[in-house]
Amino acid sequence: MSARRERMDRVRSAMAAAGVDALLLSLGADLPWLTGYEAMPLERLTMLVLPSDGAGTLVVPRLEAPRVREDADLFALRPWAETEDPFALVAGLVGGRRCLAVSDRAWSSALLRLQSDLPHATWAPSSVVTGPVRAVKDEAEVACLRAAAQAADRVAVALQAGEVPLIGRTEAAVSAEIGARLRAEGHSRVNFAIVGSGPNSASPHHEPGERVINPGEMVVCDFGGTLSLDGGPGYCSDITRTVVTGSPTAEMTDLYDVLHAAQAAAVAAAVSGATCQDVDRAARRPITEAGYGDAFIHRTGHGIGLEEHEDPYVVEGNATPLAPGHAFSVEPGIYLAGRFGARLEDIVVAAEGGPDPLNRADHGLAEVG
Ligand code: ZN
Ligand code: ZN
Ligand code: ZN
Repeated sequence: MSARRERMDRVRSAMAAAGVDALLLSLGADLPWLTGYEAMPLERLTMLVLPSDGAGTLVVPRLEAPRVREDADLFALRPWAETEDPFALVAGLVGGRRCLAVSDRAWSSALLRLQSDLPHATWAPSSVVTGPVRAVKDEAEVACLRAAAQAADRVAVALQAGEVPLIGRTEAAVSAEIGARLRAEGHSRVNFAIVGSGPNSASPHHEPGERVINPGEMVVCDFGGTLSLDGGPGYCSDITRTVVTGSPTAEMTDLYDVLHAAQAAAVAAAVSGATCQDVDRAARRPITEAGYGDAFIHRTGHGIGLEEHEDPYVVEGNATPLAPGHAFSVEPGIYLAGRFGARLEDIVVAAEGGPDPLNRADHGLAEVG
């Protein structure tokens, strides 16, 4: 069975379980994941109407139809001309079906129009159906994530080896160099390259700016992009390594040792059958015991795939059990506001044989220039 056919079957079972009568996929990652076709993020409507009880139809602007690789097994194609009303086409395909799930990333203008054309329908985000299904990666997806992680690792190794000069440069300049290196290592797109130095290392989502990096500072580097294998859809990388310019203070070393142990404990806890919140607790426990509990101000991780952040979220309150194929970040951090902080992040797959960290760059606090 083809990977696409298998995904379609998994989606149909999930629709039945959620009581969804039709899935309406537009912008976002669900459509390319299911059909291989990614809608252009423009105003013209592209929408796959997939009823629970029949074949799917992809409503697509006529001028974009040549980009669609047709798959008669999975869906029929219904190109619409400039003078047609695509919303009427979608409403006709939906018919009397009531419980509809629409792409989380669909334009609100499209949804508002559909809601007025289909006044008796009830609406849910498509992620109620696709989130848990997409969270479990098949073999080809894990191979893509691994290739992306290995490319990001090569950048991290260069950073730790001091090949990316830090002292005397601005965060923005270092961020740009990390981005260029991600591309040189095979990423087609850079999604982010956070460089937070000195007090900025205590701000988890710091926007790299004009601050010049000094000796004796912690520098949190969190970067990732999108990489595709064999022209397929792009999968995301996401890694954090913290380095110190020169020698760390005793307090920096102490904080980093706690963080390193916490990250290792959380990775080790990510066995199939454990819950997402078990992994979060495993990261939090050693940090809390060391007195840094209030300084770990975010969840432990997020799922990753076609999107940088997707199910499953590794957070207290998420009792979803991990299953083989779940791919997610394990990224505890400790942040002393206004002073310094550190984070350590790997992408991990919950595999049959135990946790499989895709990132293998060294976990120590590298001292660089
Ligand atoms: Zn990250
Ligand atoms: Zn992350
Ligand atoms: Zn380690």
